[in-house]
Amino acid sequence: MRPGRPRTPQVSGTPSVVGRLAPRSDGTVPFSVEFNPPKDMAAEARLWRAAREFERMHPAFVSMTYGAGGSTRDRTARVTGQLARETTLLTVAHLTAVGHSVAELRSIMGVYADSGIRNLLVLRGDPPGDPLGQWHKHPEGLEYAEELVRMVRDLGDFHVGVASFPQGHHRSPDLDHDTRQLCAKLRAGAEYSITQMFFDVDDYLRLRDRVVRCDPAQGAKPIIPELMPITSLRTVQRAEELSGRALPAPLLARLERAAGNDPEANRDAVREVGIEIATEIGQRLIAEGAPCLHFITLNFAKATTEVLVNLGYSLASAAVQV
Ligand SMILES: Cc1cc2nc3c(=O)[nH]c(=O)nc-3n(C[C@H](O)[C@H](O)[C@H](O)COP(=O)(O)OP(=O)(O)OC[C@H]3O[C@@H](n4cnc5c(N)ncnc54)[C@H](O)[C@@H]3O)c2cc1C
Repeated sequence: MRPGRPRTPQVSGTPSVVGRLAPRSDGTVPFSVEFNPPKDMAAEARLWRAAREFERMHPAFVSMTYGAGGSTRDRTARVTGQLARETTLLTVAHLTAVGHSVAELRSIMGVYADSGIRNLLVLRGDPPGDPLGQWHKHPEGLEYAEELVRMVRDLGDFHVGVASFPQGHHRSPDLDHDTRQLCAKLRAGAEYSITQMFFDVDDYLRLRDRVVRCDPAQGAKPIIPELMPITSLRTVQRAEELSGRALPAPLLARLERAAGNDPEANRDAVREVGIEIATEIGQRLIAEGAPCLHFITLNFAKATTEVLVNLGYSLASAAVQV
């Protein structure tokens, strides 16, 4: 079942993510990229190199995750603001409820609004240190992302997206419960969702069907699939953390075959297979009518660019170094 094209609310004339989901001028499906907050100046320089590379390829939007504590948080707000002000990239800031009072959340939104950011991906966040650990709401904070969606919408001028989970969120008792909570977030005012990364496209299609069955009006809102090119056996572990699931055995077997007895010597072969796998996932998603492909980049442009080229995108800058 393919969702129809949704209506796009206007917020102060700022482009919204949904407003950027029309096919690109060459007919290809839009793509977008996710960055992570840099931890130090060297990482910040790398992020900027990737951002400038992507800027030339005209992604629909870029998003910046939000996490960790202390100085990284300050750096996150500063760099996200700079991306919005100093590039042509439509910048989405992730906003998480975890560890914050309502007053702090309002203040973070104020910082983003001052930088001209009008698109937020609204999330609950995970307990710091151990994503699977016990969840404790901040005493003056919020329990669920749905409440934060309402708060952000009540405060006014923001376009809101939320997270969705093709295989269900790890705290959901079952998929029906999980789908009902996603529909509640969408009804609260979210315009679209971005999925947790996955390896089996059927899981994405089943999620899409579940949302349509749960609430046809919310099923018309875009569900943007997230994918990540695997570039080494080490990134398998990162991919598994981000997807919350083990890599399917046949995919792992392909990577391990390429690695043979010497993963270090065969790292180019492993990388090639990783790019091939992401390309296959992208091809199927495009064939199934996904509204956009959202890439986890780990602040590198090269692997995502290779996948896009394999998928037939003609990009202004295909010979990317980082
Ligand atoms: C695309 C994407 C980007 C992300 N970016 C970040 C990031 O930048 N920083 C970060 O820290 N984390 C990030 N996360 C991780 C996310 O914060 C965690 O997965 C978190 O555990 C769930 O967040 P949520 O917004 O889906 O929470 P919620 O929607 O609040 O759901 C959390 C759990 O509670 C259940 N639930 C929701 N409402 C109710 C209710 N009313 N009654 C009973 N149960 C309910 C849900 O079914 C689910 O099991 C991201 C996840 C995705 C998919």
